[in-house]
Amino acid sequence: MRIKLKECEPIGTNAYCLLNDDLKQVILVDAPLGSFEWSSEFCKKYNYELVAVLLTHGHWDHILDAHLFNEQKIPLYGHQADSLLFEQPERMMQYAIPGINIRALEINHWIETGAISVGGFSFEVFEVPGHCPGSLMFYHKDSNAAFVGDAIFAGGVGRCDLPGGDFKVLEASILNKIYTLPLDTQLYPGHGPMTTVRIERSGNPFVSIP
Ligand SMILES: [Zn+2]
Ligand SMILES: [Zn+2]
Repeated sequence: MRIKLKECEPIGTNAYCLLNDDLKQVILVDAPLGSFEWSSEFCKKYNYELVAVLLTHGHWDHILDAHLFNEQKIPLYGHQADSLLFEQPERMMQYAIPGINIRALEINHWIETGAISVGGFSFEVFEVPGHCPGSLMFYHKDSNAAFVGDAIFAGGVGRCDLPGGDFKVLEASILNKIYTLPLDTQLYPGHGPMTTVRIERSGNPFVSIP
């Protein structure tokens, strides 16, 4: 798996293209503003096919381009607990940047804890609520990579003051799901730089294991 990152407007939300060079297929993790154009251009240029979009959660900054993938019949994956955010994203308008245009989207595959196989890759899916009720982590064991959305960041954790947020729940998700992955697992968050389980376990100022 080759991983490409684009940090998107307007608040620096990460989109990741996961490339399967054998199959010439691409999976996108999260659909922030500009991710549709970015991933489409890449696919056109190198003759890859975008086969799925995995959404880590339903917050507005991660789904602004999602409706464009719906129009192209590219399947979207997400967790049922965030269905209101996917179907009525205007509910989050008060937390978004004024004037931003948020469109509803349709999830084609509701997923929860378990294994999924997409784009020639097998992921273990973990529910990591606390930042958002429908927060998911996509773990790809073969490449030591976990896509964690806004559950944890390098030196930080997701905010818990938005509707459905709960720090105790987030803390349990981090301790029981993220910190139990192999120490060298690379964590790819929804904002900011990559980190590892080892670094956060010992040094994250919000949730650490002394
Ligand atoms: Zn979020
Ligand atoms: Zn975010």
